[in-house]
Amino acid sequence: MPPRRRTKLICPLTCTSPAALRGAMDQAKARGADAVELRLDYLAAPPTPEDLRPLLADPPVEVIVTCRPVREGGRFDGDESARLALLRAAAELGANWLDVETDADADNLPADRIILSHHDFACCPTDLDALAARLDESPAAVNKIAFAAAGPEDALRALDVIRAAAKPTLALAMGEAGVTSRILARKIGAFGTFGTLTPGAESAPGQPTLAELTGLYRWGELTETTAVFGVIGCPVGHSMSPAIHNAAFSAAGVDGVYVPLLIQPGEEHFRRFLDAVRARPWLDWRGLSVTIPHKENALAYVGADRCDELARKIGAVNTITIEPDGSLRGDNTDYAAAIDALCDAMGIPREGLAGRDVAVLGAGGAARALVAALTHYRAIVTVYNRTLARGRALAEEFACAAAGRDALAGLRAEVVINCTPLGMHPRVDRCPLTDIPPGVRVIFDTIYNPVETRLLRRARAAGCTCVTGLDMFVNQAVAQFETWTGTKAPRSVMRNVVLKHLTSAS
Ligand code: NAP
Repeated sequence: MPPRRRTKLICPLTCTSPAALRGAMDQAKARGADAVELRLDYLAAPPTPEDLRPLLADPPVEVIVTCRPVREGGRFDGDESARLALLRAAAELGANWLDVETDADADNLPADRIILSHHDFACCPTDLDALAARLDESPAAVNKIAFAAAGPEDALRALDVIRAAAKPTLALAMGEAGVTSRILARKIGAFGTFGTLTPGAESAPGQPTLAELTGLYRWGELTETTAVFGVIGCPVGHSMSPAIHNAAFSAAGVDGVYVPLLIQPGEEHFRRFLDAVRARPWLDWRGLSVTIPHKENALAYVGADRCDELARKIGAVNTITIEPDGSLRGDNTDYAAAIDALCDAMGIPREGLAGRDVAVLGAGGAARALVAALTHYRAIVTVYNRTLARGRALAEEFACAAAGRDALAGLRAEVVINCTPLGMHPRVDRCPLTDIPPGVRVIFDTIYNPVETRLLRRARAAGCTCVTGLDMFVNQAVAQFETWTGTKAPRSVMRNVVLKHLTSAS
């Protein structure tokens, strides 16, 4: 189904000379923009109408002309009448659109080309609905409201404004937490969204690049019915999940988009966003990945009775599924991913772990998921941890043994699993074991960057079967994809995305 109206991909241009602006207009078109916004207030010197002529004569795409004054977060600090004269000259030279602030005198400007704009760089206006209604009642052709987002629920408020408006509307929640409003603008039928030519060329906080919108976020494929997914975390900007899942949707032909969701620590922040999602069934929000620090909050929100048994034991949910009727389900794909990577490498079913000696190094979040799963399948587990008390607490909870790191010299186990960061990028020379103890047949390093850690190199040299953190990482993304879509995940596509990211990061 096509979107209600074709949402323009607008490239804001913040060049300091008219000549550079002209060149950037062609580049924006080449990268998929439908329109450019000429930010005249970024020019080193105020332009004359003669400067504007070559920019507005036969432009490659539609042109929005903006000369934002300092009082609205722009850079123009000259005379207001000179600013309005510049906009009038742009109109006479054929600019498609003129961005005019709500407090400006727009009487001499053509109303059918005005984008009437309001900006709030502090927060979401408390009177957002009244403000939107006032814009709707004005003679201007298009409404624009941009405000700073405190959390991703503010992005949903921006989408509400677009949906409720009688006129074409741009509503944007600025900042990293608001990026969903920019990505989903097309699904909701906004007038447009902004995408920069390059990283760092933003005219407002949180603008993705054109390449991110058209490539990573599948702009050209978004429709009114596209299902929405995302990853909740803090921080979340480094997460590979949007790249993995969007590539997987593309490869598998799934009508979905996956966005990053920056939610500050604290159950109240988590709850506020989930409540906001569930109050808007028209979003078609179907799934959420949950990472640090919200996995416990996810379990509490979904409710233990709607989570899988091991998620309850571990005390953490990393996957939420939202059914079309709004009901929720919580899963923990971390443990399943780890245990299946191990069992696949050993060529045994999960039940085949019963009675096998397993040493787990570390007692943090990753160790907890593994110890819960291993003891569930009746493996004989010993936790070795630097802080013995923490190791003992974990061991007591899951009825297994604990030892300090000084006991590693006498380690006797068939399987060793490293759940510490020893050997992780950038300190790749470190290794949790100086030698591979006799009798060890399988070594699993949960670290995925680098894929081949020093521990795994030692293990291979000693003839052990090796399991990588990459196997575990890809498994958990595959499990999420299959849980949400009910279709087989394109595993090799997902694995290649991770490898590409790791190569470019190191
Ligand atoms: P975490 O909760 O911070 O726990 C870290 C554990 O490592 C703790 O037991 C800590 O011991 C121990 N540790 C830290 N630095 C150490 C050092 N210098 N020497 C000895 N022990 C040390 O971290 P996590 O979330 O469990 O992550 C641990 C590892 O798992 C990371 O390397 C991560 O890459 C990996 N992981 C992989 C995946 C995947 O999908 N492949 C997913 C999650 C995690 P203390 O208790 O003494 O502090």
